[in-house]
Amino acid sequence: MTHGLRVHDVTVAYGGSHPRIAVDRASFSLDQGGSLALVGASGSGKSSLLLAIAGVIDSVGSVSWDQHDLASVPPHRRGFGLVFQDGQLFPHLSVGANIGFGLEMQGVGHRERAARVGELLDMVGLAGAQERAVTELSGGERQRVALARTLAPRPRLVLLDEPLSSLDADLRERLATEVRVLLEAHGTTWIVVTHDRSEAAAMAARQLTMSGGRLVESGDGVQG
Ligand code: ADP
Ligand code: MG
Repeated sequence: MTHGLRVHDVTVAYGGSHPRIAVDRASFSLDQGGSLALVGASGSGKSSLLLAIAGVIDSVGSVSWDQHDLASVPPHRRGFGLVFQDGQLFPHLSVGANIGFGLEMQGVGHRERAARVGELLDMVGLAGAQERAVTELSGGERQRVALARTLAPRPRLVLLDEPLSSLDADLRERLATEVRVLLEAHGTTWIVVTHDRSEAAAMAARQLTMSGGRLVESGDGVQG
């Protein structure tokens, strides 16, 4: 493999009063343009592995992109975007300002930002919602805006941690497919974390199971 992500022997250990190994020598590769679901029960280490890849928490082992080791690259310079369960939108900013936030931080000018925000809102099915308050959005709309915000700076890798878990079952099923189509259309590479096996199958081409901090290859089959 030449282009994409390589995770090699990544271990995450937490200290404190109950020290534990949350991720135990996890290794996998993901080609650029590919997708992967990390599936496992609560507490199996999925979020810890995702955050280690993002560089947000300390880990040992190596994370590299296009064969460049990222150990010395801070999270905001990795070109990775994160989407969490609850979207974590800025409540005091409009939909448009939320989506344009990262671009503004990068110094992208008003006109270009507005164009990109419009393009992303079209893409996530919320055309014309620029001025809406995020506080008046439904849960599903909030997650679409969160996805648009993450995609705005064109991240080379998108990391989604239980992105649909706060939604009700019907919507979750519909959005799982929609989000995958969106990510594919955007030509990005992504890793989605979920405890739901059918959601994993709907949202990514390949699945890895996590259990007690260890990764196990599970193929594409939906089995127990
Ligand atoms: P998952 O996302 O699969 O539910 P996590 O990565 O959140 O799993 O957690 C893996 C293990 O690490 C669990 O035993 C959890 O209690 C522990 N853990 C997670 N975050 C912390 C933390 N900040 N400090 C100490 N232990 C933690
Ligand atoms: Mg988690």
